[in-house]
Order: sequence, then C-alpha cells, then structure tokens
Amino acid sequence: MILEKFNLRGKIALVTGANTGLGQGICVALAEAGAMVAGAARRGCEETASLIAPGQFHAIPADLLESNAHETIVAETLARYGRIDILVNNAGIIRRNDIADFTEQDWDDVMQVNLKSLFLLSQAAARQMIARQSGGKIINIASLLSFQGGIRVPSYAASKSGVRGLTMEMANELAPHGIQVNAVAPGYMVTNNTEQLRADPLRSRQILERIPAGRWGVPADIAGACVFLASAASDYVTGITLPVDGGWLGR
Ligand code: NAP
Repeated sequence: MILEKFNLRGKIALVTGANTGLGQGICVALAEAGAMVAGAARRGCEETASLIAPGQFHAIPADLLESNAHETIVAETLARYGRIDILVNNAGIIRRNDIADFTEQDWDDVMQVNLKSLFLLSQAAARQMIARQSGGKIINIASLLSFQGGIRVPSYAASKSGVRGLTMEMANELAPHGIQVNAVAPGYMVTNNTEQLRADPLRSRQILERIPAGRWGVPADIAGACVFLASAASDYVTGITLPVDGGWLGR
C-alpha cells in the first residue's frame, strides 16, 4: 500500500533547530507521521513539545557553535532512543553585511553551524546506521542560495552551496549502505531567519512579486517534502536538493 510507505511509525528522528520556524514544523510533521523525535536547539523546545503528543518528543539543549555539540546531541539521542533512523540537519544561521564590511567571525559562525556541524552530525548518524546495517535517511535543509548567489550574505551562500554539494557526495558514498541523503531547499518562508527581509518594505514587496505562488511560505509547507524524504516512499531518491519555493527558481 503506497500510503503505508509514508508511515514513520517505529522510526527515530533527530532534528536540529527544533524550537522554532522550519525545524519546529519538521518535528511536528515527522511526529504526525509516527516517528519519535529528538529535537536539538540552543533555546528551549517547550513550544515544539506542546504541539506533539506527550512522550513522542525529547528536547536536547545544544549549541552547535561549540565544537563537540554534535557528539552530545547524538549521544543523548542514542541514550534515549537507542538509534537514529532519520537525521534532519535543519539548524542554520544567516549574517548580512556588505562584502567590504563582512567579518571573519560572521564567516566562521555561519560555516560552523550551517556546514561543518551538518557534516559532523551526518557522519555520527551514518556511523551508527552503517554499524547497525539498518539503512537510514539524512535530510539537509539547504536554501535557494544553494542554487543562486544572493546578496550581502557571502558565508550563507557559500555554506548553502556547500550543503548541496555535500548532499550529493554523502549520497554517493552512503548509497551502498542503504542510506539516502537528500536536501530540501525552502523558498522565502515566514520565520525568524527572514525577519529583517520582511521588515524592509521594498525588499519584501520585490520578493513577493517574484514568487509565482503569490505568498511567502510557512513551516507547514516543507512538511510534506520532509516526510517523503524521511520515508520508505523515497528509497530510490538520493542526492537531490528539492526546492519547496512556490515556484521561485523556475521563474
Ligand atoms: P530560524 O527560525 O532562525 O531557526 C533557526 C534554528 O536553528 C533555531 O531553532 C535555532 O535555535 C537553531 N540554531 C541556530 N544557531 C544554532 C546553534 N548555534 N546551535 C543550535 N541551534 C542553532 O530559521 P528557519 O527559517 O526556521 O531556518 C531553518 C533552516 O532553514 C536554516 O538552515 C535556514 O538556513 C533554512 N532556510 C530558511 C529559509 C527561510 O526563508 N526562512 C529559507 C531557506 C533556508 P535557537 O533559536 O536556539 O538559536
């Protein structure tokens, strides 16, 4: 039955950036599809927990700017649930400035959270998937700037293009182990990440005019793509970056 293939009952998912925005929407969607969800974030995940059935969500406080955070997150997930079937690398930050004024710190922080920690978490999750010979799913949250350059966001553009390349690389290496690695590239979504853009009347109007769907996205819009890529329905899909952008890239 095709619908059964989308069912995540009995699966253990780990989602980073779980307390708000897209990460919160992903946690809720995976839980609704049946998974037990471990959610990592710096700030508390109480709001996310309140949207999920009691006992189906476990919060892990962690700061991905700290060099060993990935080890803590994976160790705590394994201690709680015994394994990881689905990893969603969602946590991400953006820093905006002109190239001439862009600081090394803004380069390093964005690369650390968006790209380096994504690799280290994927590596740790893949190690235990390989050891258990269970297969698994890794989903990276990319961006339109995995395909385009953007403006005033050099470290973000570099990190998100890196996410797309790394998604393909990991897909190639992990396919023989039954692990599919894919990415979702959200368009312009209403979250903290785009607060500055939405507060700028000119940029906000320009962006909206270019979205064929005629509206900004919301966290629930990427839920279907994530559940699909987390489920057996996508077992022959690997290495792709799937835009969920209201048609932006096609325009
Ligand atoms: P958001 O509302 O700003 O959420 C970002 C999440 O990442 C938060 O949960 C945040 O936790 C977590 N995070 C940031 N720094 C962290 C750190 N050092 N350690 C641990 N967690 C950290 O943004 P969002 O829009 O939901 O973004 C989610 C993902 O989608 C990001 O990768 C972003 O680049 C990507 N994306 C967003 C859009 C968009 O339009 N919104 C478009 C394309 C791609 P804290 O709150 O605790 O810091």
